[in-house]
Amino acid sequence: MQPSTPAAQDTAAQDTAAQDAAAQDTSALDTAAQDASAPAPTLPTTIVTYPAGEVSGTATVLAVADAGDGRSAVIVDRTPFHPVDHRWPDQGPDRGAIAAGDRRLEVVDVVLGAVANTNTVDNTGTGNAAAIHLGEQIPVRRGEDGWSFLVAHIVADQPPALGETVLLQVDPDHRRALSAGHTGCHVAALALNAVLADRWLKDIPVDGVGSPDFDGQANTTSRITPGGSVDTYRLGKSLRKRGFNAEGIEEALPGLAERANALLAEWVAVDAPVSWEIAGPALTDLRTWICTLPEGEQRMACGGTHLHHLGELARLQVSFSVTDAELTMVTTAILADS
Ligand SMILES: [Zn+2]
Repeated sequence: MQPSTPAAQDTAAQDTAAQDAAAQDTSALDTAAQDASAPAPTLPTTIVTYPAGEVSGTATVLAVADAGDGRSAVIVDRTPFHPVDHRWPDQGPDRGAIAAGDRRLEVVDVVLGAVANTNTVDNTGTGNAAAIHLGEQIPVRRGEDGWSFLVAHIVADQPPALGETVLLQVDPDHRRALSAGHTGCHVAALALNAVLADRWLKDIPVDGVGSPDFDGQANTTSRITPGGSVDTYRLGKSLRKRGFNAEGIEEALPGLAERANALLAEWVAVDAPVSWEIAGPALTDLRTWICTLPEGEQRMACGGTHLHHLGELARLQVSFSVTDAELTMVTTAILADS
């Protein structure tokens, strides 16, 4: 999900981080990065092919870092593997393997890596470990100037050699189930916005369908699972101040779910198309998710993977629950051919 207001970004700094960083930058580092005479970063930001739907591809091993617990982080020039984002971990990592010569290394996790361009990464040995930050150890925002952002493939076996050409293979069924979950999650948010529209007492920004963007205002966590998602939304004082009336919402949940599910069934029935705008091939380049519904077109920054049209789903449904001033939406997005 994508917050659309500055306030919401505080609690859900996510896909727009790269965009924000780019817009805010006035630093000397940026000037240096654009200077053609400046040396290229030792480790460039990883080229990612998953936005185009790729699930396999060859690559060159650029670095291997110590990932702790006897594991290694394998960094390559380009990858089809989707990493989990430590700051907004909505879509989990792809599963799969790295084929290196006649060895098949299982990829046990895929996380973000980051390395300052001012660091000289020594590609000749284990010195890399000191320079590459992994996952929660990354001290900067995704897209920060002067840094390269990396897809780190975590393996438990002996890693491939530096400079080796490897074949990266994502589990296609797991990927497709995650894509169904992610598309379902975003579309369900639009249905949620629609059924809560009459609870807003003040004007707030609307989504692409024309409903007040409850999801953008209140979404606190989002977890994409294979074939679904779980989203939580705050309903407390801060949302009330913005004009949301949560009175009696718990009793209203069955009716809200019924209306949301009717809308979702309609959108699946018209086979609404899902498309992308991709600003560039690198991990940190902005990607815009677009879903064209009869009521309007929803556009949002999104770093995940998706289906191509809603007709790929046999079932798209939500259920709601409320505890401690928090609304939970569980979305089920089952593929027609699964
Ligand atoms: Zn997304």
